[in-house]
Amino acid sequence: MLPTIVLVGRPNVGKSTLFNRLTRSRDALVADLPGLTRDRHYGRGMGASQPYLVIDTGGFEPTADTGILKEMAKQTLLAIDEADVIIFLVDARAGLTPQEFTIAQTLRKAQRPVLLAVNKTEGMRKAIVSADFHELGMGEPLSISSAHGEGVRDLIELALETVVEKIAEPAEPVDQDTPRIAIVGRPNVGKSTLVNALLGEDRVIAFDEPGTTRDSIEIALEKNGKHYTIIDTAGVRKRGKVFEAVEKFSVVKTMQAIEDANVAILVVDAKDGITEQDAHVAAYIVDAGRALVVAINKWDGLQDDEREWIKREIDRKLQFLDFAKFHYISALRKKGLNELLASVDVAFKAAMSKLATPQLTRVLGEATTQHQPPITRGIRPKLRYAHQGGSNPPIVVVHGNHVDGIKASYTRYLEGIFRKAFQLVGTPLRVQYNQGE
Ligand code: GDP
Ligand code: GDP
Repeated sequence: MLPTIVLVGRPNVGKSTLFNRLTRSRDALVADLPGLTRDRHYGRGMGASQPYLVIDTGGFEPTADTGILKEMAKQTLLAIDEADVIIFLVDARAGLTPQEFTIAQTLRKAQRPVLLAVNKTEGMRKAIVSADFHELGMGEPLSISSAHGEGVRDLIELALETVVEKIAEPAEPVDQDTPRIAIVGRPNVGKSTLVNALLGEDRVIAFDEPGTTRDSIEIALEKNGKHYTIIDTAGVRKRGKVFEAVEKFSVVKTMQAIEDANVAILVVDAKDGITEQDAHVAAYIVDAGRALVVAINKWDGLQDDEREWIKREIDRKLQFLDFAKFHYISALRKKGLNELLASVDVAFKAAMSKLATPQLTRVLGEATTQHQPPITRGIRPKLRYAHQGGSNPPIVVVHGNHVDGIKASYTRYLEGIFRKAFQLVGTPLRVQYNQGE
């Protein structure tokens, strides 16, 4: 499980600037769902000692009947609900406003650690900045500049220290032959139908482990003589006979399930095309480094032109998933499921691959002979050997000189070469560099 950091504060203090810096924005998951405020952003925080989830409570849009204060209180309460630790952001340039006192009041009841961060402090004197904000009674104010990155890393490390019990651990399969699968996607795309179809008449053991990980339920699946563990998300659970209550879709649960899995099956509703949220979940899976299989569901009953349309949608919006297999399935009619699981097997195997140093080094040598790293600032980087630095996702560490000068396009070239040489289908692959002496 990853720790969840929630950003709270009135509009314009710099929450989204901070959010973008923490997540590098690409992987923002936008919850554009009824019942959730559309402006809430979810992302995977990087660049600290461990990964974490970050939620931006967004700019509140008060309606005539709620007003800004009520709306802010509501948003703050929702945020608290999902947080392990809260960063309360205030604006050094604007100073304290009545809205800050309202938020502080709500946060005091939160039973969560709260860090008070004073933003926009670049070029300002620390002592002067913090003096103003002591009045809030939220502890020692920490000066940061989201726009310039000052103090941000320290702030995040402090926040993470408050949730020590939730150290991120790489997902470990129970044994090397049992993939852990997260079935994820928007509400109503057919996740529970798919799980039920997979379970079918085969022998099933569903077990509930309250307390082990927050609210997570695992389902053991045996299919064609192979074992799998399905990590439940809210969408799956609501159909299970055990839980009747329809739970609201939780983005945090979705992200945690992805973190906890070896392979994600991203389920998409063919009738809806590729929505922004589908793309965001896909990007999150890539950022988390999980193996991926895409299930384009509800393929039954579509006209030819509709099928053409969805394929164009995929080409346009999901190009970045070029490493993954796509399956056109019908969970309802149980069509395409064996092929889907076969791709899960392939992706899992690729994600867990052991890549031997001599082979990696040989492939690297061939790649650099074919195409040398371009010269930067008058120097050509020299790449000497490669070893495997991790799996799920496979990480290839390339050792050499002047590796700082290597361009992203060359790294993509190497990724492609390694992927092809080792037949790594269905998993992200990371190429990193190690500067030799
Ligand atoms: P949000 O409404 O809380 O999400 O705030 P935004 O992130 O949209 O920021 C509001 C404004 O403050 C924007 O114009 C930002 O460029 C600016 N801003 C954000 N962080 C900083 C900072 O560290 N320093 C300065 N000077 N401006 C900032
Ligand atoms: P979830 O919220 O993602 O778990 O979605 P559900 O499994 O509850 O399915 C939502 C709706 O889509 C239900 O009415 C299902 O019967 C329907 N559905 C699911 N899979 C298919 C499919 O392959 N084809 C068609 N036509 N409908 C489907």
